[in-house]
Amino acid sequence: MTEILIRNALAILTMDDARRELAGEDILIRDGVIAALGRGLSAEGAEVIEASGCVVTPGLVNTHHHLYQTLTRAVPGGQDALLFGWLKTLYPIWARFGPEEVYTSALTGLAELALSGCTLTSDHLYLYPNGARLDDTIAAAQEIGLRFQPTRGAMSIGESVGGLPPDSLVEREADILNDAIRVIDAHHDASEGAMVRVGIAPCSPFSVSRELMRDAALLARDKRVMLHTHLAENDEDVAYSLASFGCRPGQYAEDLGWTGADVWHAHCVKLDAQEIDLFARTRTGVAHCPCSNCRLGSGIAPIRAMRDAGLRVGLGVDGSASNDSGNLILEARQAMLLQRVARGADAMSAREALEIATRGGADVLGRPDCGRLVPGKRADIALWDVTGIDSAGSWDPAALLLAGPVRVKHLLVEGRQVVRDGHVATLDLPRVIERQNRLAAALRG
Ligand SMILES: [Zn+2]
Repeated sequence: MTEILIRNALAILTMDDARRELAGEDILIRDGVIAALGRGLSAEGAEVIEASGCVVTPGLVNTHHHLYQTLTRAVPGGQDALLFGWLKTLYPIWARFGPEEVYTSALTGLAELALSGCTLTSDHLYLYPNGARLDDTIAAAQEIGLRFQPTRGAMSIGESVGGLPPDSLVEREADILNDAIRVIDAHHDASEGAMVRVGIAPCSPFSVSRELMRDAALLARDKRVMLHTHLAENDEDVAYSLASFGCRPGQYAEDLGWTGADVWHAHCVKLDAQEIDLFARTRTGVAHCPCSNCRLGSGIAPIRAMRDAGLRVGLGVDGSASNDSGNLILEARQAMLLQRVARGADAMSAREALEIATRGGADVLGRPDCGRLVPGKRADIALWDVTGIDSAGSWDPAALLLAGPVRVKHLLVEGRQVVRDGHVATLDLPRVIERQNRLAAALRG
């Protein structure tokens, strides 16, 4: 039995059903699970983490990413382009990736997430050039120790048949489905507390066929795994749907089996009132990516309206090529700010944005065992040191997103310390950065 005692926290934002905030209390962890919260807990032989200057939150949950893209941050030709132009710049570079690029960029992105408080992340890998496999990203997640929900993405409509990606980056649809079955059978763990769960995720309605969207949904239901894609990201995306399919994105999703509690869509910037109602009724989830939406000029997702309708919303940093940062606590702050731009200063509080980033994301990913600090839930916990410059003078340090640190002091995943005193404890991070920069230099040529 392994026990850890987080002692005397300045504040604990539990994100429990009553959203209780505790002051001066402790958290006892036993074998990766939260055993108790309370004042003056003691545990003989437990490792003690002193939390007197810290705000303690559930680990943040990232519901949308393309980890492979950390190798193509701030590429000059894509810095100021809209979505489709940006993709056209980057596709030829991504076509030169292989297993080492996919693995190293994933490790880099995961380390960046961990330092910004993330304990559980999904990933959307939709291209597999030169022998790269989903397994390469799973190896990276296991190495750093984050809880991981990778999705087997795909593109099948190349340039020669009217699609956006070059033909060299698309796969045959039968191969895509066979590999999805392979990775689910090899890695998916449906049990409570699972460290790896696999989903199925054709890239977007504009890069795969109608048949693949439908077959992916059938396969996901058969295997009892989740479904993920990009939807209604910007005006061009909606125009493509109207021109190619004769309907809006929400209708397209509904027709092909892409609604339900086992589905979550990235972006949804352009959902209209009917589509919001559809997603709320069907318990379909949304991954909100405010920085990416700002970066690509896509617009402001109607998150206030979604939340008011009861729609389940999580937060995503999106790929590093369209952010270009992957800092999840800053993403939460951006979510709060962006709703205020659209709807006024009372549109979203710091605490609500943090809830979306924790409990909200866990629920979108089908993980009610994560995202809240409650006995019986997994010990995925972030400790934020509020004794530093970022919070100095704050009247309410628990309002982390208004004035708080942008990196964690400590991070625990399944009770294991992944970040200790501000450093990744499970990796030789300088070596990872060196390898990442070497690969990026080789790609630049
Ligand atoms: Zn994306």
